[in-house]
Amino acid sequence: MKPPVFDYFAPNTLDEALSLLAEHGDEAKVLAGGQSLVPAMNFRLARPEILIDLGRLSELTGIERLDGGQNVRIGAMTRQRTVERHPLVRKHVPLVHETMPWVAHPQIRNRGTFGGSLAHADPAAELPAVLLALGGRCLAKSRDGERWIDAQDFYTGLFETALEPHELLAAVELPSVGPGEGWAFTEMSRRHGDFALCGVAARLKARDGVVEEASVALLSVGDGPTAAPSVVEILVGQAPSAELVSTAADAVVNDIDPPGDLHATPAYRRHLARTLTRRVLTAAVDRISG
Ligand SMILES: Cc1cc2nc3c(=O)[nH]c(=O)nc-3n(C[C@H](O)[C@H](O)[C@H](O)COP(=O)(O)OP(=O)(O)OC[C@H]3O[C@@H](n4cnc5c(N)ncnc54)[C@H](O)[C@@H]3O)c2cc1C
Repeated sequence: MKPPVFDYFAPNTLDEALSLLAEHGDEAKVLAGGQSLVPAMNFRLARPEILIDLGRLSELTGIERLDGGQNVRIGAMTRQRTVERHPLVRKHVPLVHETMPWVAHPQIRNRGTFGGSLAHADPAAELPAVLLALGGRCLAKSRDGERWIDAQDFYTGLFETALEPHELLAAVELPSVGPGEGWAFTEMSRRHGDFALCGVAARLKARDGVVEEASVALLSVGDGPTAAPSVVEILVGQAPSAELVSTAADAVVNDIDPPGDLHATPAYRRHLARTLTRRVLTAAVDRISG
C-alpha cells in the first residue's frame, strides 16, 4: 500500500525544524530513520498530514562524553548502527553496546535512529527498556526552550511518551559504567531480529561484596518498558549469590501483567520473564566479580 497524501518539509537547521513543529505540531510527525513510521503510514496506521524530516540536522547526531566522563550523550538522530559500533558506547555504556545487535536487522539499524526507537515507544523495543534500566534522561526541545525528562517519566502509555506535539527528542544522556558494576541484556524472539516475546535489561552495582544499587527493566510485558521493583528490593543490601538471583528472578512476576497474543500466552511470557531475569542477573553478577 501507499501512504495517504502528506506535505513534506526537510529543514536545514534545528531552529527551522522547531518552528515547523510549533506551527504544525498537532498534524505533523517528525521523520527520523523512517523504519517504523513509513511502514505505519503505508499500512495507514499513521496518517500525519505533514512530515518534518530531521535527516539534515547534524545538531542531532553524535556521541560524546560529558561531566568529566560521568555521562555519555547520544544525539537522537544518531543511527543505531553507529551506536552499535561506537568505541565510547562499547567502553562506557556496555549495556547499550550489548543490546544493539538485538534491535531488528543490520539493514534496519543502518537507517533507524537511536532517538527514533526511544520516541516511537514500542512496548516490544529493546532500547526503551535499556534507557529505563540505566536511569538515563531525555532532552526534549521545542521553540519555547528545552527540558529534561527522566527515563521513568518518559513513557506514559502504549506508543506514548511525555513529549508534547511541538517537542522533539534531541538527545539522551546515559550514565557511564563505574567500578563494581555489572550489566546484561537478553531476550527471546521466534527468529533473530523479530520483535521479542520478552526481554530483560539489568544493571547492578556492588560495594564491599553487597549489592548497593540494582535496576531491572523488561520489554514486551506491558504497555511500555516495565521496571521490576520487587526484584530490586530482594537484591539490594544482599551479597550476590546464585540463590539470591534465583529468588529475585522469581519475584519478577509480581511486577508484570503481560498480554497474550498470537505469539505467546501471558503464562509463557511470565515464564520467559523469570528465566531471562535469572540469566541477566547471573551474567551481571559474573561481571561484577570481574
Ligand atoms: C522489519 C523490522 C523489524 C524491526 N525490529 C525491531 C526490533 O526487533 N526491535 C526494535 O526496537 N525495533 C525494531 N524495528 C524498528 C526500528 O528499530 C526503528 O528504527 C525504530 O523503531 C524507529 O526508529 P526510526 O529512526 O526509524 O524512527 P521513525 O520510523 O522515523 O519514527 C518513529 C516514530 O518516532 C517519532 N520520532 C522519531 N524520532 C523522533 C525524535 N527525535 N523526536 C520525536 N519523535 C521522534 C516519529 O515521529 C514516529 O512517530 C524494526 C523495524 C522493521 C521494519
